[in-house]
Amino acid sequence: MKDLDRLKKLLETPQRPFITTHIRPDGDALGCILALHQFFKMKGHQSVAVVPSDYPYYYNWFPGVEQLLNYHKDRKQIIKTLEESTVIFVVDFNSLHRNGELGKILADSTLPRVIIDHHTEPEKIYDYWFSDVKACATGEILYEIFEQLDSSVLQNKDIATCLYAAINTDCGSFKFSSVTGKTHRIAAALIDTGIDIGKINAALYDNFTVDRLKFWGYCLIHKLTILKELKTAYITVTRKEMEENKLKTSDLEMLANYPLIVEDIVLSALIVEREKYVKVSFRSKYNFPTNQLARKYFNGGGHLNASGGEINLPIEETVKLFLDKILEYKEFLQ
Ligand code: 5GP
Ligand code: MN
Repeated sequence: MKDLDRLKKLLETPQRPFITTHIRPDGDALGCILALHQFFKMKGHQSVAVVPSDYPYYYNWFPGVEQLLNYHKDRKQIIKTLEESTVIFVVDFNSLHRNGELGKILADSTLPRVIIDHHTEPEKIYDYWFSDVKACATGEILYEIFEQLDSSVLQNKDIATCLYAAINTDCGSFKFSSVTGKTHRIAAALIDTGIDIGKINAALYDNFTVDRLKFWGYCLIHKLTILKELKTAYITVTRKEMEENKLKTSDLEMLANYPLIVEDIVLSALIVEREKYVKVSFRSKYNFPTNQLARKYFNGGGHLNASGGEINLPIEETVKLFLDKILEYKEFLQ
């Protein structure tokens, strides 16, 4: 955390931080911007926390979520607030295009930018760096920043809940290889604040609507292809299926992980037809570099075992491309 002293210095005078995260925010993204927003309020800074697009409806219990501004709904207010801000916090992403339309505005801003993130290959556009690709979640990095700035804020239950949810969701409930002893020590310290992790875990995971569960069942029965020889599984979902079943995009969140529970499956893909493009989500076990596949062929990126991208092709062509390109990674599929 080489820029910690500079950040400390910056925060010695009251700031108006503009906090934002990536489009379609996940648990890590939401938890971190809300924890940071709460921290600034406690420390006398006047921050604003902005999501560039909707977050999943089943995360509407995160502490402070009602204070978020949404670029799709509060555009004018957000642009005005940005003009009055003194510093931008880029949280859980590292390339402004991941911030959607808002990212274009941030790109033109002359305000200093602080990055707090754990994705690979950050753009070289930040003034304060808290970027660590080894961290299993941005929540882990933010915990350590708070620890250095003022560890007493970590006793705040709203902050502890947000950080615990952030870390938990981004490391597959402490299951991924990116989890370290430190991850568990941080989680333990958060649990020791007295937060109810039974309740938090139920809110994070046992939150399906019946329609969502049934659609997953339909996908597993009718839409799952298993390529045993290639240790690969994939599911395709069309726009028509989404519409007919009245599903939201967030209803598919985590479906990409599901085929990995099949023994010997190493790579899983979820291929979803959207209005203007096809969205792919890749998940893997062990060393299969899904982020390389996503970056090289699907205009995306991410982490070794979880990544995604978008492509402007019909869904059938996208499947063909996927099946063709994974052959380049056969060494990981044996
Ligand atoms: P998901 O498949 O759940 O959308 O995304 C999994 C992970 O892949 C995210 O945490 C993010 O790091 C990365 N990711 C997903 N979509 C994109 C994309 O379009 N571009 C980049 N660079 N990364 C993505
Ligand atoms: Mn993250």
